[in-house]
Amino acid sequence: MSNNTIELREVLKRYGDKNVVDGLSFHVRAGECFGLLGPNGAGKTTTIKMLLGLAEPDAGVVSLCGYRVPSGARFARQRVGVVPQFDNLDPDFSVRENLLVFGRYFGLSASKTRAMVPDLLEFARLENKADARVGELSGGMKRRLTLARSLINDPDVLVLDEPTTGLDPQARHLIWVRLRSLLARGKTILLTTHFMEEAERLCDRLCIIEEGRKISEGAPSELVANEIGCDVIEVYGTAPVALRDELAPLAMRTEISGDTLFCYVRDPEPIHARLAGRAGLRYLHRPANLEDVFLRLTGREMQD
Ligand code: ADP
Repeated sequence: MSNNTIELREVLKRYGDKNVVDGLSFHVRAGECFGLLGPNGAGKTTTIKMLLGLAEPDAGVVSLCGYRVPSGARFARQRVGVVPQFDNLDPDFSVRENLLVFGRYFGLSASKTRAMVPDLLEFARLENKADARVGELSGGMKRRLTLARSLINDPDVLVLDEPTTGLDPQARHLIWVRLRSLLARGKTILLTTHFMEEAERLCDRLCIIEEGRKISEGAPSELVANEIGCDVIEVYGTAPVALRDELAPLAMRTEISGDTLFCYVRDPEPIHARLAGRAGLRYLHRPANLEDVFLRLTGREMQD
């Protein structure tokens, strides 16, 4: 096989009469961080389940670490760490015990696992919590422990399903720092996320899926340049439809999402001049980002 650690070709998964993954193809190279993005129900978790051999595709080819799955999933999984969407730590066990128990799933000896625990605790920044019960940890600490636990078999590949959903910004930043350190160590990461900022910061490449189909793929900066290619002025605090009629002639394109009007502009000055000093109205001029790409491609906000 090529140096693709993960490869999906024309993968189809049907539930009832619905194709929830519909001819999806993408690959992840060794050492890369790849993001799988899409609104709720797009098929991200189903795709991950097929990759891990937990759901069988109805058609197409899935391979992981050089093994076809699901047939070779048992072998592939030896080289993979998984952070599921919902923490499944044992709340009655201590932090240390959770790591020790997990080592057993991989058939590691108790002494080998015990020897790894200090490094994993340090990685998770939980050195002072080794004997605390998991039930006493904050959400961010639990996520860091789940991430550390996924490293128990020293995997080449990490698969993370919404690793920072439900965390506050500070806890999210701490996870990002840990993920970047894993990338620096040469790990390959596949993650799903609702957070465009997360994808923009971490991912070398990503693909956006909707209704099980790929609608765009590339490096974050490439997608922003190709799909948007200009700056954005966001306007809030007034009826967006009436304002759009007024501002559309001054913009290359406009979009409304919720109570916000987005004006895509090469030259922001005419809109600045029009809006300056208007009571009750707020606006923000910024470079385009992945959220704009998502809105453009799907007509929806990401956090639905
Ligand atoms: P995402 O992770 O992008 O939110 P999912 O992969 O969880 O999307 O779900 C994709 C679609 O498949 C949804 O419409 C969901 O209701 C449906 N689905 C997921 N799992 C099952 C299942 N086991 N049985 C039937 N439908 C399912």
